Amino acid sequence: MPLPRLLLATNNPGKVREFRRLLAGAPYEVVSPGETGIALDVEETGSSYAENASLKATAFARAGECLALADDSGIEVDALDGGPGMYSARFGGPGLGDRGRTALLLEKLRDVTEPGRGARYRAVVALAWPGGEVQLFEGVQEGSIGRAPRGERGFGYDPVFVIADGRVQAEISDEEKDAISHRGKAVRAASAWLAEHCP
Ligand code: IMP
Repeated sequence: MPLPRLLLATNNPGKVREFRRLLAGAPYEVVSPGETGIALDVEETGSSYAENASLKATAFARAGECLALADDSGIEVDALDGGPGMYSARFGGPGLGDRGRTALLLEKLRDVTEPGRGARYRAVVALAWPGGEVQLFEGVQEGSIGRAPRGERGFGYDPVFVIADGRVQAEISDEEKDAISHRGKAVRAASAWLAEHCP
């Protein structure tokens, strides 16, 4: 029997790579929007990670007529009162890419000492079905913001996100990131839920 489809509800190539790794053992045919010809740009109009993840997953589940998985995620910095948080992808406005956003974050924290540099990544994963049902899962990874970008791996703010052993997230292997990351934790919780409820 063919495996049921699981559509990744994101156009972010960094997230697609991570979701594919994290779902590698799951009994689903994992497909990206590009592979299915679905071109959707869902506006993140919600007022929480959960609302935005639900909006994205539901729109893709309806368009693909199959189970869809989205996350809404962000980096929360203590000195910025938890910002940029759910606005992390848009930090500094639409003209900036990953490097520009990271540089802006370092600039905003230039005079901030250690305690204020505390930070965490948070991800809320939504599973959505075409009929409108949604299940939510959350993962958090604690760290801090370094003084300069390092490393070549990962995406987004990974070059400045310092983990417990002093390395930044862009310096660790994919396997190490998946084991400790916010997205890894949330996707493992979603996989466990699917295994239990949709065996
Ligand atoms: P959104 O979930 O599409 O709103 O985007 C979340 C944003 O948070 C990303 O574009 C990144 O800037 C940041 N972010 C989320 N997860 C990660 C991660 O694992 N590494 C680096 N940056 C991340």
